Amino acid sequence: MEQTFFIAILTISLAGFAFSCYRRLSLVSVGRGEYRFDRPLDRLKEMLIYAVGQKRVVSRPFGLNHGIIFWAFLVLSLANLEFLVSGIFPAVSFTLLPAPLHDALLFLFDICSLATLMAVAIAALRRTVNPPFNGARSFEAYCILAVIATLMLAYFGLNGVRIAQGMLPATSATPLSNLVAAFIKTILPTAKLETAGSVFWWAHAVVLLGFMNFLPYSKHMHILTATPNVFLRNMDKCNTQERETFLEGNSFGVATVERLSWKDLLDSFSCTECGRCQQSCPAASTGKLLNPREMIHAIKENLLENGAVMKKLSGDIEAEGHTSLIGSGNRGKMKEAALWSCTSCGACMEVCPVFIEHLPKIVKMRRHLVQMDARFPDELLNLFENMEQRSNPWGMAPSERSKWSSQLDLRLFEVGSTEYLLFVGCSGAFDARNKQVSVALTRVLDAAGVSYGVLGKEEKCCGDSVRRLGNEYLFDKMAKETVQQFLSKGVTKVITQCPHCFTTLKNDYRQYGLELEVTHHSELINDLIKAGKLQPAASAKFGRVVFHDSCYLGRHNEVYEAPRDVLRAATGREVLEMGRTRENAFCCGAGGGRMWLEEHEGTPINCNRVQEALAQQPETVCVSCPFCMTMFEDGIKEVPGSTTQVRDIAEVVALSLQPAFLPLSTS
Ligand code: SF4
Ligand code: SF4
Repeated sequence: MEQTFFIAILTISLAGFAFSCYRRLSLVSVGRGEYRFDRPLDRLKEMLIYAVGQKRVVSRPFGLNHGIIFWAFLVLSLANLEFLVSGIFPAVSFTLLPAPLHDALLFLFDICSLATLMAVAIAALRRTVNPPFNGARSFEAYCILAVIATLMLAYFGLNGVRIAQGMLPATSATPLSNLVAAFIKTILPTAKLETAGSVFWWAHAVVLLGFMNFLPYSKHMHILTATPNVFLRNMDKCNTQERETFLEGNSFGVATVERLSWKDLLDSFSCTECGRCQQSCPAASTGKLLNPREMIHAIKENLLENGAVMKKLSGDIEAEGHTSLIGSGNRGKMKEAALWSCTSCGACMEVCPVFIEHLPKIVKMRRHLVQMDARFPDELLNLFENMEQRSNPWGMAPSERSKWSSQLDLRLFEVGSTEYLLFVGCSGAFDARNKQVSVALTRVLDAAGVSYGVLGKEEKCCGDSVRRLGNEYLFDKMAKETVQQFLSKGVTKVITQCPHCFTTLKNDYRQYGLELEVTHHSELINDLIKAGKLQPAASAKFGRVVFHDSCYLGRHNEVYEAPRDVLRAATGREVLEMGRTRENAFCCGAGGGRMWLEEHEGTPINCNRVQEALAQQPETVCVSCPFCMTMFEDGIKEVPGSTTQVRDIAEVVALSLQPAFLPLSTS
């Protein structure tokens, strides 16, 4: 009778689970197509490392606790499978296995159940005492922890009773269950053991099947989707944005979930709500409206609300109104101001244990605002006009572009007679402070005998800011012009001093058929020092030097060592590191077009980073990006009495090569 009842509820539970999974997961089909099945073996390997091995999860101090729950879950899945099968066929159980194997399994189950119990208790304590983010103390989170704990307790209870009844031998294979058995014997008379066994068995069955059916409706949906999400991750660095095709009648950007890709939608089901992205996000952690975790959650909520209708109508649904993803910030909506807060630093994607791609989604929503609705912060109007009309953010006349070098004897780039194009960039050409870096760099290159030329007044902005800001139409126009120019001049090797130019020329222009060998000046200078073509004097005059990683050089392009090696050679001492460094570095606040926007909410990102740098008590903060230079200099001005200097690494090298290079003058 009991067996028949169990078979009935198991069948209903499995059918309900399958139906719920289908109903929810099939919603991703409203998203647009995207190919994520190339390099299957590499994908499988990465999945084993990151999903099964939990590499990113355990890289953070508290991650080990989650790792323990996950690995124990994998092992205990076997025990649960046996539990369900033996519920239908009582004669089928692991007791049929050879004794050593059976004992080994029982031992594993005992240990894993205890480890899970302890990890669940620690997780509950952490949420209560020191929650990782606001809202982590949710009822749902506690409920799930309680359910997992109940499953473990029921397991021990059941095994304990079986041992107490003599149905299982009390061997060394079940050390913890033996203890439970001993305890049960002291509190229950033998006549009650059968009833107790039944209670534990049914408690285990009901909680297990209930949990299974609750899963698709909870944040623990990630148990099902996180592993495939890792398999389907972007196998390349997410350091460029998808190109758009500008044809009449096309709609651009994303305002509804159906315009995201199916992978974007799968991302939304895979979030573990660990809060790491928001902890790393410079916008979220300085009090802006943007919260990458909440954005992913908003996409999920919007999909759950609108997906079924969208699926039915095959995308033929009103784009605006209640289906819009962008709105007042209620359930399933993203506030516009939040979207404009992103610095495109990529910190969120770097820490996400399940490889959710936040940044491309933000840029897609920005594209909709700019290109479809012409809705963007007022300050950007000037920027867009200046870029369009004069191809630089300040709207300076093109003839002004080469003035920084008027006292220098620079050559124009000419294929055959110059090896490299030195792409100076708008900041290097127009910004007073960064012009000094351009001069320093040319002096370093001259000292090493590098063959290079510039484009002079013919150089145009690479378009980095407009692309990250979502003005893809303008970027497309600018990129086509520069690509055409490079092709006609035969440019193949480029040196940049700006990581934004570096990444745009290297990664974005590929989409326009231009494959360049782009070298950031830190890499080239490092190579020149190693080859003995530059011999800096290892000057100590810079004092304690702390280095700040630019997001677009470091995190987006993985150049971490070259600037540090250069600084070691040029200063003769170890480089100081901030608390958040390399792939965990905190943004200066200028990327993603934020260089051209005021910060109206929270505390300034650059001040946060400056405080972190000054905590190392440096005489010099060293940067390798013109935007970082501006943000650090501005931030340090806000610190009363600070005498800390900000230098680009090219300046440090120039100054340590020969005192004759001083002073670095620009016009
Ligand atoms: S890219 Fe940077 S600023 Fe943008 S959401 Fe991610 S962490 Fe935040
Ligand atoms: S998006 Fe990734 S990092 Fe952010 S909360 Fe979700 S799982 Fe964690």
